[in-house]
Amino acid sequence: MRRPPLAAATLATGVVALALAPGSSSYDLLGHTLGPLVRDVRVFNDFEDPSANDNLLPEPMFPGAVGAPLAIWKAAVEWGSALHGDGTGDPTQQDGLGSGEANFDFSWQGLASGPGGLTDNTHSSIHADDVGVLAFAEFGQGGWRIRYYENWTWDDGPGAIPAQHYDLQSCAAHELGHALGLGHSSFLTTMSAVQSGGDTSKRSLLTDDRLGVQALYGVRSALKPRVTGASWNGVTLTLTGTGFSATNNEVWFTRATPAASGQIPKVTGVPSSGSGTLITVAVPQDAGSGDVLVRVPGSSGASLSNAWPLLIGCQPIVPTCPTTANSAGPGAVLSATTSQSVAANDLVLSATGVLPGQFALAFYGSSPASQPVAGGTLCIGAPLHRLPPVQADGLGQLVVPVDLTAPPAPAATIQPGQTWHFQLWYRDPAGGAGSDFSNALAIPFCP
Ligand SMILES: [Zn+2]
Repeated sequence: MRRPPLAAATLATGVVALALAPGSSSYDLLGHTLGPLVRDVRVFNDFEDPSANDNLLPEPMFPGAVGAPLAIWKAAVEWGSALHGDGTGDPTQQDGLGSGEANFDFSWQGLASGPGGLTDNTHSSIHADDVGVLAFAEFGQGGWRIRYYENWTWDDGPGAIPAQHYDLQSCAAHELGHALGLGHSSFLTTMSAVQSGGDTSKRSLLTDDRLGVQALYGVRSALKPRVTGASWNGVTLTLTGTGFSATNNEVWFTRATPAASGQIPKVTGVPSSGSGTLITVAVPQDAGSGDVLVRVPGSSGASLSNAWPLLIGCQPIVPTCPTTANSAGPGAVLSATTSQSVAANDLVLSATGVLPGQFALAFYGSSPASQPVAGGTLCIGAPLHRLPPVQADGLGQLVVPVDLTAPPAPAATIQPGQTWHFQLWYRDPAGGAGSDFSNALAIPFCP
């Protein structure tokens, strides 16, 4: 079954007129709902437009995703029953992500290994041209599939979208509305039939969309389990919240590796403590960064909790401070090779663009700074911990293996869960100041 799809910009004027019509609601129900076991969402990331995958900014509430998957994940959590983590992650949604307030939540399952079939609950692109149509949802057999036509230019945001591009997140939010059972609204909402180029407004549910999902699944029940915190120590996950079963919870994770269809990593039969407010559970091998949900016994949507973000592993290494030019060229560039695991103890710093044959000193500290020193910028705040000096080779390259088990001082011990800043100081006799600094890196460490 195929729904009349999201139409292109040419129809926009008529819809604006309808949106001004009086009335309390305009949502349309397609006649199906999604059971609690088929709320998984995954993305086969075959989008060809560079603009569909050029958002590389990590979002703390969406750990492990960038580009098109991040945009589609954000679209899915906007339909959720409660704020997703602290609700942040999208600059256009000041009221936060997670606005459905119904007994309905999607379970983000990361990447798919293909576009899948009609019940595999995937997003992917398609090479075809249905004139005036951006995308479509197929559904009706206990699952769904969403396709985006490649003849439009898709954009993953996260901020403003050029007028000649189409906002993937807005379109995904609309098509996911069809997947969960909503038709078109005549109001100018997420479920209105039109999306203009550059328009990001459909990312955010409006009242009419919220009333629609609540009509299908019921207003969020007071008995629906609610996750309000998740922390992982490398082995065990601790969940805080309300409404957990005393003896028999299912904890759902996001799958770590691409899957063809609905293989949600779950741990079953998990008890809670603290009158249903605390769960501790071992994280299964096939779980990765994504969302965690708790399901209590029962078959209604109210038996499945909201989706809460969970970071498994480490946040990415980020540059915190640029390098400065030296007497030999554009400056020294510091990079790091590491699993970021303290237990693995495999951090190796390396640099290029140092003065050939000159000595250098890598150092680290716990806080960023920005202070002009010698010929460059000191990017780390005191106290600074110095690693043994090394000499650059004839090409101005050097390598600094860092032994985490032998820190230069007790206070310099690197622990899981901490972020440390690394930089290189090197001699530059021909430079006016005699020495200079590389760029700096912030490296988060994990167990
Ligand atoms: Zn539509």
